[in-house]
Amino acid sequence: MNQRYGDVSFEDRMSHVDFRVAEQPHIVVDTDVCRSCTTKTCVHACPANLFVPTAEGGILFNYEQCFECGTCYLMCDGGNAISWSYPDGGQGVVFRHG
Ligand code: SF4
Ligand code: SF4
Repeated sequence: MNQRYGDVSFEDRMSHVDFRVAEQPHIVVDTDVCRSCTTKTCVHACPANLFVPTAEGGILFNYEQCFECGTCYLMCDGGNAISWSYPDGGQGVVFRHG
């Protein structure tokens, strides 16, 4: 990936982000619903590219590097396919300064 946002590269921005991975996923995706979803909006909407389409028409999802932006929950076309919550306190994404 070689994206730039203004004068700062994606890699430089990501160097200010840490993830304290919680044992319990804060987002759960009902992949049975995803198999019949024709839009797969989540694949293009997630800024962290955490939704990956499979050759069989399903979705693979990994919560570990989630920015907790909520976009997937808002954009999902599959009704209740996404169960979304914040990670427990002290876990999840950490934005650092400097
Ligand atoms: S909350 Fe944001 S970063 Fe996390 S999986 Fe959903 S769209 Fe991706
Ligand atoms: S938009 Fe929702 S239902 Fe469709 S593939 Fe993505 S998570 Fe699944």
